[in-house]
Amino acid sequence: MTGRPEAPVLSPAGTRVFQQLVMTGEASRTALAHDTGLTPGAITRAVRPLLAAGLVHETGDRASTDGALGRPATMVTVQAGAHQVIGVKVTGDQLFGVVCDLRCEVLDEVTVPVGDRRPEALIQQITDLVAGLRADRPTVGSVGLAVSGDVDAGSGHVAYSPFLGWHDVPLGAQVAERTGLATTVENDVRALLTGERWYGVGRGLSSLALVTVGAGIGCALLVNGQVVHGSFGVAGEVGHVLVDPDGPLCHCGNRGCVEAIAGSAGILDRMAQAGFGALGIGDVADLARSGQSDAVRVLGDAGRAVGIGIATIANLVGAQHIVITGEAISDEHDYDVMDPHVRRAFAERAFGSAASAAIELRPLRFVDWARGAAACAVENFVTHYGRS
Ligand SMILES: [Zn+2]
Repeated sequence: MTGRPEAPVLSPAGTRVFQQLVMTGEASRTALAHDTGLTPGAITRAVRPLLAAGLVHETGDRASTDGALGRPATMVTVQAGAHQVIGVKVTGDQLFGVVCDLRCEVLDEVTVPVGDRRPEALIQQITDLVAGLRADRPTVGSVGLAVSGDVDAGSGHVAYSPFLGWHDVPLGAQVAERTGLATTVENDVRALLTGERWYGVGRGLSSLALVTVGAGIGCALLVNGQVVHGSFGVAGEVGHVLVDPDGPLCHCGNRGCVEAIAGSAGILDRMAQAGFGALGIGDVADLARSGQSDAVRVLGDAGRAVGIGIATIANLVGAQHIVITGEAISDEHDYDVMDPHVRRAFAERAFGSAASAAIELRPLRFVDWARGAAACAVENFVTHYGRS
């Protein structure tokens, strides 16, 4: 990772203030002192190099006032366009790329089909996509890539990605070398969590769980303000929490995992066994809404399995807020069908005060994945700004 040559060295306090400003967009010096625990003098010293680098600017004549004295507040505002990033969600079928500013506003987006998913060909496709998005955007300075599977964010190495069929691919190093841009690689669900942590519901929270329900059941955890990566790259595998020892076979080799019951393949298999072949998840939801008993049962079981899974998370780590999202609840249909089952099972299984966690089900747009990748690039830029 390289900063720009002219980047001033930020103190740890400077980094903290820069992070806070990128999260909030703008803040008064008083609010910055309050939110970071720094003294007003430390805030002044922290803001100075950011002003000099053109990453923030100040305005002094806001209608709002600063504290009880009633003085006009000096607002410090992020220059969101000063550094742009490219985020790419890499799948076996498509590359989905966005250009974002420091506030993770999407400025441009593109989707391209994947021709050949072998590493050499796909890395070249990613490089070409970055080059296309970067044209005429001189402030693009970094890239974030989101990949499903076992990813070492520190090294940018993809250890294993089942959907891509990749083993031990040095993705980050390859893309950095070919594009000349600092490149961050993260597991796709952790990238989504990073987006929520910086720009969404996770701002200001010390613990947050994000669960994706789709072909697989993914989960990323923020605990004590840190994204959990696991000692061996695996953590939060809620998809393989046991729900029913006599349940359907899971691809992991066990029976009755959350993923075997609530993953889209599990749902469609159970509908096929009931005589409903060739359906999509949306069709199952439509059937359930019309009162068809098999669809009601299968989606009810799926919602219940997800509820047990998130109760397990709440019981283990005491998450404040749990977001459930993903392609299986990507339109309003499925989500209203599963929602009460998720909440009921959660309420039954969460122990004591762990049940206080806020549960939020929401659709997932595909652009959110790429935006999560972009958030990882912003996080890397802000956290390492001015350091080698
Ligand atoms: Zn399993």
